[in-house]
Amino acid sequence: MREYLTMVCKECSNRNYRTPKKTQQTEKLELKKFCKHCRKHTDHKEYKK
Ligand SMILES: [Zn+2]
Repeated sequence: MREYLTMVCKECSNRNYRTPKKTQQTEKLELKKFCKHCRKHTDHKEYKK
C-alpha cells in the first residue's frame, strides 16, 4: 500500500499537497511549493498527525 505525506504551508498551515512517501526517507521533508492561500511560493513541511 502506498503511503502519502501531506505537505503543510508553514505560513498559513493549510494542507496543500500530498506526495508519495519514499521508503528510505529519514529526514523531514521540506519543499518550496506554491500556496494558493498565500498566493506565493512558501516552505511546506511534512504534516504530522
Ligand atoms: Zn500558505
